Amino acid sequence: MKQGIHPKYYPKAKIKCACGAEFTVGSTQKLTEVEICSNCHPLYTGKQKFIDTAGRLERYEKMLAKSSALKKNIKDKTKKNKTK
Ligand SMILES: [Zn+2]
Repeated sequence: MKQGIHPKYYPKAKIKCACGAEFTVGSTQKLTEVEICSNCHPLYTGKQKFIDTAGRLERYEKMLAKSSALKKNIKDKTKKNKTK
């Protein structure tokens, strides 16, 4: 290995997650803080978890309600057409 060009390697670096979980890994950073990990990610837990950023969740729910209302309208219309 060429000297002086490689960053210091920490074989027991820590990864800290916002959920409280900690992992020990090999890294060039002594400590890494993450917001989500395999311990708390919905894909692994099977639970829904939203991290709301500036009302985005609210906007998303509004959009969802609007979209399902539209779908309902389309269904009603197709039903009317069939009865004709
Ligand atoms: Zn986590």
